[in-house]
Amino acid sequence: MPAHREPVHDRDARFDVAVIGAGVVGAAIARELARYRLRCLLLDAAADLGTGTSKANTAILHTGFDAKPGSLEAQLVNRGHHLLSHFGPEAGIPIERLGALLVAWDAEQLSALPSIVDNAARNGYMRLRHVSADELYGLEPHLGRVALAALEIPDEGIICPFTTPLAFATQAVLNGVVLALSSPVQAVRSSADGTHVLQTPGTAFAARYVVNAAGLYADVIDHLFGHQTFTVVPRRGELIVFDKLARPLVRHILLQVPTTVSKGVLVSPTVFGNVILGPTAEEITDKTAGGSTAAGIAALHARGERILPALVEEEVSAVYVGLRAATEHSDYQIAFYPAQRYVCVGGIRSTGLSASMAIAEHVVQGLADAGLALEPTDDFRTVRMANIGEAGARPYQRAELIATNPDYGRIVCHCERVTRGEILDAVGAPIPARTIDGLRRRTRALFGRCQGFFCAAAVTTLLAEATGQSVGTLLALDDADQVPSPLGESVKVMESK
Ligand SMILES: Cc1cc2nc3c(=O)[nH]c(=O)nc-3n(C[C@H](O)[C@H](O)[C@H](O)COP(=O)(O)OP(=O)(O)OC[C@H]3O[C@@H](n4cnc5c(N)ncnc54)[C@H](O)[C@@H]3O)c2cc1C
Repeated sequence: MPAHREPVHDRDARFDVAVIGAGVVGAAIARELARYRLRCLLLDAAADLGTGTSKANTAILHTGFDAKPGSLEAQLVNRGHHLLSHFGPEAGIPIERLGALLVAWDAEQLSALPSIVDNAARNGYMRLRHVSADELYGLEPHLGRVALAALEIPDEGIICPFTTPLAFATQAVLNGVVLALSSPVQAVRSSADGTHVLQTPGTAFAARYVVNAAGLYADVIDHLFGHQTFTVVPRRGELIVFDKLARPLVRHILLQVPTTVSKGVLVSPTVFGNVILGPTAEEITDKTAGGSTAAGIAALHARGERILPALVEEEVSAVYVGLRAATEHSDYQIAFYPAQRYVCVGGIRSTGLSASMAIAEHVVQGLADAGLALEPTDDFRTVRMANIGEAGARPYQRAELIATNPDYGRIVCHCERVTRGEILDAVGAPIPARTIDGLRRRTRALFGRCQGFFCAAAVTTLLAEATGQSVGTLLALDDADQVPSPLGESVKVMESK
C-alpha cells in the first residue's frame, strides 16, 4: 500500500463537494472525486462505512445482460462491470469470473430464453450461449430435475461486497477525502451564497456541492433539499449462507428467469468459499427491518430444494437480510440540479455494487457540467487491499509472510483462518476497523461456521486492546450497527411538516 497522505481534518472548513452516504455508491463517488484538486467530504451516519445495503447483497458482478434496454441502469451496469473488472484485480478486490447459467425449469421459462438473448443483445451483450439439458447436467451435475435448458452468461462473476466499498473509500481517503463517520445528516440549510450546510449532531459541514447517496434514505435527504420525485419502498431480500462443505456442489452462478420484480432466487458460490441461496423479494415499509423471517427461510428452502437438492441438506452457517432501495420507478433515480449544486443518487436498487464505478463517473461528469472545476491531481495514489477471498493466498498460507511477522501464523478465528496479524493490520489501516462488524467485513473473523461461538471472546479482546476501546463499548457499538436507521427522530419530525 502506498504511503498514507495525511487527510485534511479541518471539519469546519468549507468543502467543494460533500457526499452523503458511504455505501458502495457514495464511496465510489468520493474515490472518483479524489482524482481532482478538490476538498471533498464523505460522511455516513453509521460508525463504519458500508454498513447499509452494501453489506447485505448477493455480491454478483453483473454484466447487465438482463437490464431494461435504454435504461440508465443498463448503461451503468454495463460500464460498471467493465470498470470494476479492471479495478478489482489492481486493488486486490476478490473477484471470480465463474460465469452464470440461467436455467429454464418449465416450458414457459424455456420459451422466454430467446427474448432474454434478444434483450442482452439490445444491451450490447452478445456472449450469451444456449446450453442444452445434457450439457447443463454435465456442467452442473448436482442440479435438480428436470431442467430443460439454460443460457450461459460467461462474464457474470462473484465479488467481495465488503472489500469493494472499503477499497473505494480507502483510495479516496489516501487521496485527501475527509471521511466523517457517525455523522447522520439531520437537516440542511442553504446560505445566501448557495453553500449548503449539512447539520449532524456534532458538526455542521459546509459544502458548495452535495451528492446524496444515502441509499434507503435517499428520498428523505432529497426531501430535505426540497424535492419529492420518488419514495424508497424497501424490498427485503433474505438469504441463506451454506457451509464451505457445500462449495463442491456448484460451479457457476445459477440464475432464474427474471420477473419484473426481481432477478429471482439464485444459488451462487461466494468469494469466501460458501454457497448462498436467495434472495427473496418482498416489499415492506420498515427501513430498519433487518431480521430474517420464518416464511422467507421456508420459501428459500423450497426453491433451493428444486434448484440444487443436495444443497439444502448441507449445514447452514448464517442467514441474513438486505433491503433494496426500490422506488415506484423501475430505473435508477439519478437527478442533477445544477442551479442548486445538488445531485440525488437514489433508487440504486439491485445492481449498485456492479454499477458503482460507472455511477461515480456519471455523477462526477454531471457535477462538472454543473460548473464544478475538475483539475486532475498530479499523483492519484493507488490502493492495494488485504486479500480476504478464498481464491487468492491468505496470510496463514504464506510462509514467507509468516517468516517476516509470526503474527500472520497465529490464527485467532479458526473457521475462517484469520490471523492476529490481519486483525492488527485492519485496526492500523487508513480506515481502521473500530467495530466488531467492521472487523468481520475487513478480515472474515467471526464469519465462519461457528459464527464466533469459539473465537468471539478472543477476537473482541484483541480488537479492544488494539483500538484502546473497552469490550463493553465494542459490544454496544455492534448492537447499534444492527439497527441501520441513521436518522433518528429529528428527521421524522421534519418529514411530517
Ligand atoms: C438482497 C440484495 C441483493 C443484491 N444483490 C446485488 C448483486 O448481486 N449485485 C449488485 O451489483 N448489487 C446487488 N444489490 C444491490 C446493491 O447492494 C445496492 O445497489 C448497493 O449496495 C447500494 O449502495 P448504496 O451506497 O446506494 O446504499 P447503501 O449501502 O445503503 O449506503 C447508503 C449509506 O447512506 C448512509 N446514510 C443514510 N442516511 C444518511 C444520513 N441521513 N446521513 C448520513 N448517512 C446516511 C447509510 O448509513 C448507508 O451507509 C443487492 C441488494 C440486495 C438488498
